[in-house]
Amino acid sequence: MRILVTGGAGFIGSHYVRTLLDGAYPDHGDTRVTVFDKLTYAGDRGKLPEPHPRLTFVQGDVCDADALLAALPGHDAVVHFAAESHVDRSLASAREFFTTNVLGTQTLLDCCRRTGVDRIVHVSTDEVYGTIDEGSWTEDHPLLPNSPYAASKAASDLAVRAYFRSHDLPVMITRCCNNYGPYQYTEKVIPLFVTNLLSGRDVPLYGDGLNVREWIHVDDHCRAVQLVLENGRPGEVYNIGGGTEITNRELTKQLLELCGEGWDRVRHVTDRKAHDRRYSLDDTKIRRELGYQPAIAFEQGLADIVKWYRDNRDWWDKTTR
Ligand code: NAD
Repeated sequence: MRILVTGGAGFIGSHYVRTLLDGAYPDHGDTRVTVFDKLTYAGDRGKLPEPHPRLTFVQGDVCDADALLAALPGHDAVVHFAAESHVDRSLASAREFFTTNVLGTQTLLDCCRRTGVDRIVHVSTDEVYGTIDEGSWTEDHPLLPNSPYAASKAASDLAVRAYFRSHDLPVMITRCCNNYGPYQYTEKVIPLFVTNLLSGRDVPLYGDGLNVREWIHVDDHCRAVQLVLENGRPGEVYNIGGGTEITNRELTKQLLELCGEGWDRVRHVTDRKAHDRRYSLDDTKIRRELGYQPAIAFEQGLADIVKWYRDNRDWWDKTTR
């Protein structure tokens, strides 16, 4: 089998590629992988196990149909991780988000149709649903995005739906909660706080810190994406939950403890614009249909990741500004 992975030099895409090539997914011992990545500030080939006999790297933009049409032939499946992914950047400047996330996804879908790819997974996010005070979102909940990032992902999800309905393109959507794990760019809250604390800097906590996020280890997310790639039904959406919902304040407290620091290291900063109060996914569908359940307990995963950042300063030193 041959799988093309867009955004495979990013945080989640590279974890997926490393895991696949490590043989962690049954029956993929011979699977060959092509990473197709533009190498934006978030992309880094240092996350990939190169050289590897079953890995090919193509530097390319998902908005570039010619590059995709050159790379795609011969691939059975595509996993689409490539995106502009950081909410704060989308608040500062949204154009790149709509270019890559919407037009890039549409270009990729078109090229998959023209080259006859058998299965495609479009990796999306719980942020497309907006914010929820009580209860949890099922896949049928309306899309009510509040940030330009979330709006661009919601628009890409709608493009996917249209390509399935109009062209029978065999594509599935996954919507996952907040990920943490190795090689996450240091602008995201967990690596930002950990690397700040390890470098003797304060940590900036938005607003009252009571925004609730659901967390998942990147390894559980990637396993769920693989389940959807192998057994998901085309045209369907699958929520992927992590099972741990905590406030940013509680998360900060746990990170301070793991780094041996106190609350005096916290700097309260003006809240993010339109900051969603709470995210919460109902992932009954993927659990029932595909047998998914997260394997990594949050407390253990968080402790492991603090240790990973302690041990891998060489990697993240170049990403902290
Ligand atoms: P990331 O920012 O770490 O990586 C994105 C990758 O995409 C980078 O390697 C970058 O070079 C590449 N890329 C960007 N624009 C491109 C373009 N035009 N053409 C080709 N490659 C391009 O992001 P991530 O955190 O790994 O997220 C991956 C996917 O998962 C995204 O689609 C994101 O929306 C989704 N997601 C992320 C989270 C999370 O918590 N990080 C949660 C749910 C869903």
